[in-house]
Amino acid sequence: MKVALIAHDKKKDDLIRFIKQNMDAFKHHELYATGTTGGRIIGETGLRVQLKKSGPLGGDQEIGSMIANGLLDMVIFFRDPLTAQPHEPDVSALLRLSDVYKIPLATNQASAELFIKKLLEQKK
Ligand code: PGA
Repeated sequence: MKVALIAHDKKKDDLIRFIKQNMDAFKHHELYATGTTGGRIIGETGLRVQLKKSGPLGGDQEIGSMIANGLLDMVIFFRDPLTAQPHEPDVSALLRLSDVYKIPLATNQASAELFIKKLLEQKK
């Protein structure tokens, strides 16, 4: 499956920990990520990730464009609900497109745990 991974700054540690705990699920899939999130995933887990721009610089829109073009199967986005984001409109647009195209998008770890089951089942 084609999976996009994104985390707001205060959630990046949580996402890295989550990925490390679920390496078996992620290593069999094609991974994409916004710039800073993806750089950390590559550096700290060794997984192969195709990098988009950093979220505030258009990365969330790039992920949205992938959804609109049928190039993603799933998005895991660890959002920070307690901090204002300068690129909130881009985040909203991404969430909207995931609804338009009915692409599963988890916005927190509890939802992402359910997605892991699918990734383990699917293995590509
Ligand atoms: P980043 O973008 O991975 O480049 O930090 C994520 C975001 O804030 O949308």
